[in-house]
Amino acid sequence: MAKRDYYEVLGVSRNASQDEIKRAYRQLARKLHPDANPGDPTAEERFKEINEAYEVLSDPEKRSRYDAFGTQGPQAGAGFRPGSDMGGFGDLFDMFFGSMGMGAERGRRAGPERGDDLRYDLTITLEDVMQGAEREIRIVREEVCPTCGGTGAQPGTQPERCPQCHGSGQVQQVRESFFGRMVTVHTCPRCHGTGRIIAHPCHACHGSGRVRAERRLVITIPPGADEDRPLRVAGEGAAGRRGGPPGDLYVVLHVEPHERFRREGDDLWTDLTVSFAQAALGAEIPLAGLTGEESVPIPPGTQSGEVLTLRGKGLPHLGSPQVRGDLKVRVQVAVPRRLSARERELLHQWAALRHEPVAGHDDKGFLRRVKDALGR
Ligand SMILES: [Zn+2]
Ligand SMILES: [Zn+2]
Repeated sequence: MAKRDYYEVLGVSRNASQDEIKRAYRQLARKLHPDANPGDPTAEERFKEINEAYEVLSDPEKRSRYDAFGTQGPQAGAGFRPGSDMGGFGDLFDMFFGSMGMGAERGRRAGPERGDDLRYDLTITLEDVMQGAEREIRIVREEVCPTCGGTGAQPGTQPERCPQCHGSGQVQQVRESFFGRMVTVHTCPRCHGTGRIIAHPCHACHGSGRVRAERRLVITIPPGADEDRPLRVAGEGAAGRRGGPPGDLYVVLHVEPHERFRREGDDLWTDLTVSFAQAALGAEIPLAGLTGEESVPIPPGTQSGEVLTLRGKGLPHLGSPQVRGDLKVRVQVAVPRRLSARERELLHQWAALRHEPVAGHDDKGFLRRVKDALGR
């Protein structure tokens, strides 16, 4: 079943504030909570759906990733991961699911966790799309702390077993809640679910095992690169937690508008102005292409607005650059604004040959009528 849009699920607009999202979620959560709808599988499904939507939209980082990639994008497979890094949502989750069997997953000791994916917006030119390019970018990201190797413990010391949860990473609590008395299993507040505490934190990372670092990376832009296909640079995202693998870096491309060429898939569109004589008699017109000179053959009798297709002169196809789109040339026939006496004379002869009525040589009355009618 196709996933519904998260904004639609919560009934909020795409630019809803965090407060609006939270409010919408709370209302729906009360209405659809399984305790309030016993034996109604539809409510249960919808309840899961709003939780999933809220998990993403309440986290600015996940939300912007969702806005950029949708659920099919990076980490789509990760889906709804109860208890991983939900922050404030963790409490609500406890309240709902703590004693309902789904606590099992949440209760598991926090283990290695993959690092976050990062997004970088890069502006490129149409010439880059044509030829491919390399760009150096600068990113700031979390990396494994080089001092402690990611353990968070001062070199020479070891993390110790958490005395509050005895290493399990979870503690039980009985409490009264909106839905009645509940036994909840939740993450140990002392060790945050890791089951270990660090008595002597590493001075470089203050025990987190990760430090912020600035990196320069060279990004290869393949020929045919497109805005709707972000470049994935595997393993160049943020470092994982507790020994987990790093995330990926996604480079989202923005192609600068070109003053003469417009892109449509692999095709390039451009306008070319030719004279009346060139359109009528045919001509070969030089055209400054994206990356070199092209020659556009104008067939005799070409009409203004006609589109000429130069096969294989467009952009390379992403992934198989030897295959190229077409260059589409829209011909505009220009009418001369001023004529010399000789040109005027020849055009009159031409009109006479074709029996076309035209304004006379020195018809002052005609020019006045034009002025009256058009206000010129
Ligand atoms: Zn460290
Ligand atoms: Zn603990």
